Amino acid sequence: MTLAHNLGFPRIGVHRELKTAQEAYWRGDINVTQLTTTGKELRARHWAQQAGVGMDFLPVGDFSWYDHILDLSAMLGVVPSRFDWDGGEVNLDTYFRMARGHAPSGNPASACEMTKWFDTNYHYIVPEFEAKQNFKLSCNKLFDEVSEAQALGYRVKPIIPGPLTYLWLGKSKGSALDKLDLLDALIPVYGEILNRLRAQDIEWVQLDEPILALDLPSAWQQAFEATYNRLQNSGLKLLLTTYFGCLQDNLTLACGLPVAGLHIDAVRAADEIDTVINWLPAYKVLSLGIIDGRNIWRADLRTLLERITAIKDRLGERLWLAPSCSLLHVPVDLTHETTLDEEFKSWLAFARQKLEEIVTLKRALNEGYEAVAEYLAASARAKHSRATSNRIHNATVKQDCASIDDTWVQRDSAYQQRAAKQTAWLRLPLYPTTTIGSFPQTDSIRKSRREFKQGRISEHDYKERMRREIAYTVAKQEQLGLDVLVHGEAERNDMVEYFGEQLDGISFSRNGWVQSYGSRCVKPPIIHGDVTRPKAMTVEWIRYAQSLTDKPMKGMLTGPVTILNWSFVRDDQSRADTCLQIALALRAEVTDLEAAGIRIIQIDEAALREGLPLRKKDWSAYLNWAVRAFRISAAGVDDTTQIHTHMCYSEFNDIIEAVAAMDADVITIETSRSDMELLNAFERFAYPNEIGPGVYDIHSPNIPSVADIMTLMQKAARYIPSERLWINPDCGLKTRAWPEVETALMHMVDAARKLRHAASRPMPFPAS
Ligand code: GLN
Ligand code: ZN
Repeated sequence: MTLAHNLGFPRIGVHRELKTAQEAYWRGDINVTQLTTTGKELRARHWAQQAGVGMDFLPVGDFSWYDHILDLSAMLGVVPSRFDWDGGEVNLDTYFRMARGHAPSGNPASACEMTKWFDTNYHYIVPEFEAKQNFKLSCNKLFDEVSEAQALGYRVKPIIPGPLTYLWLGKSKGSALDKLDLLDALIPVYGEILNRLRAQDIEWVQLDEPILALDLPSAWQQAFEATYNRLQNSGLKLLLTTYFGCLQDNLTLACGLPVAGLHIDAVRAADEIDTVINWLPAYKVLSLGIIDGRNIWRADLRTLLERITAIKDRLGERLWLAPSCSLLHVPVDLTHETTLDEEFKSWLAFARQKLEEIVTLKRALNEGYEAVAEYLAASARAKHSRATSNRIHNATVKQDCASIDDTWVQRDSAYQQRAAKQTAWLRLPLYPTTTIGSFPQTDSIRKSRREFKQGRISEHDYKERMRREIAYTVAKQEQLGLDVLVHGEAERNDMVEYFGEQLDGISFSRNGWVQSYGSRCVKPPIIHGDVTRPKAMTVEWIRYAQSLTDKPMKGMLTGPVTILNWSFVRDDQSRADTCLQIALALRAEVTDLEAAGIRIIQIDEAALREGLPLRKKDWSAYLNWAVRAFRISAAGVDDTTQIHTHMCYSEFNDIIEAVAAMDADVITIETSRSDMELLNAFERFAYPNEIGPGVYDIHSPNIPSVADIMTLMQKAARYIPSERLWINPDCGLKTRAWPEVETALMHMVDAARKLRHAASRPMPFPAS
């Protein structure tokens, strides 16, 4: 019999019940008992749903109050000393303080770092190792949840991130520590955990080692052998679980480790299935992650079935079926979608539907295809309707993409000549000041948007209110003395959703929430078809904003790579092709803005780095098409029009050549948090165009002083000629409040004036 199991169910609840409860608890509106009751209800509901579908093993350990890596830190007693932990059971408030810095009880302390989970938009809390890190079993949550599921009568498979992945994801603060040196202390605690689980009558334990899909140094590869040799004595069956990519040079290692089973991502590593089977010892189970846990499309069951029937012939009982990875990365349940039409819905599968697909495949293998004939027919119908729908295919877009040649990728002249032309009309002072786009999203803005969405105010009134917000923001910037103004993005709910809603080929679910971190959930757009722009998206607003001032107004767009990377994408064409279509739509917007008299246009690529593939050898292919798409979106304008871009991270040393190849006239970038660490990149590589290294950390309520800003800029001026430096915050200001924004920008403008004054050489043009 082939078994079906799950690698993790979304924990947030179909109505984001977890978020509601977490936030109520943090505010002090509910107590810990009420909070834990919600958790218990969610777990019970999710287990019941999974069992109801027909899963053979239910996951335990996938539920988390914030993040599953933080759960493991709590279980292992990896609690930095600043959280005043007494060394006993790590309680919920200590846990929340690690995640957020504060909790209803306990002293506030700075939160642990958070970072992206592999190439997903989920964020985990980075384990923080101290010089003499001890490990000690310090939290019973997993064992309690195992008992809870067993009391409900379920057969469960606990899930724990494996020891190597855990160490890999952690950081040692202060001292330079070889994390592998921690293994000796860590493995016994894993041993203890496994013993406890065996005492709970557990048969299988899933140990997640997704780092096997990364380029690993050989010391880490070797550490796998040593570690799993030591863990094999637990008497439990271990399912070594990998996902998110191919195993490549780790393949024989993964197949050979002394465990009872191996799970592979059969979607992203589909080409490796046969090799894995060849290498897998005859006693091992192979769990095939056959259904895509990273996207929302319904599977083509017939094709999959043909594939796995052949595998079943080889493996027999040793074949298990699963989603490719945890279903944490997809929304919970499609049946709650009320706004998508039936045809569209028939193309989709969220977490619950994906489990149904897995069980259907299992039943087909165990009971014969006829047993699931109805499901196969429905899958075939959906496949056909999606392949032929005119909502998906647009011949004009395909022709446009095919007609792109190199002239589309190039501006008329090189940066040097463009810069001269732009300087001539812009007449900006040395160290021009600007902002990244958004200004505070105030309660009044949110209220207007809510009222408009609920139909309580007319479109006319809504637009009128937004115009007032824009006028206010423009007036403020003039008072502050900024050089290049923005309209403030009052009318935008979100930098991707705003464009997604206006582009054809992109749709939105009503309830398709996915956890991003903690209580924060996002509803990624679904790029379902060929993308087109039915009409101008931003021109009216920007033109209005420009009409209010003589200063240059910067048009503001989200770039093609960022729209792509923050969405669920089509699986019937390459990401590169989809990105190109979005780039063409944006190119039309850019030229429309130019035609409307907007001569500075910013195209944000906040998420360019996020799209980097997990393996370094795949980076250049990605960067090539991503950079090309950006250039296509930007290159339709005259030399005199200045193109800006913005990126939200400072680690770009390793991609600086690609960033330069985007050939934006000006780039603004995050740096202030890392104290201009980015500038190290310029020791190796002379960035050719203009750059605005962020001098004001908008992620913190702290207001930078004039002196702080001057110091940062003086540092920058050592690497980049001052004629090519801009002064700006390091990201948009939408999450901040007006009073702090005003003071911070006042300091910024003041610092710019002082720097100009101090500049020894004569200024090219009079300062404003
Ligand atoms: N223009 C956007 C803003 O200012 C950029 C946001 C971002 O980089 N994440 O809000
Ligand atoms: Zn940013």
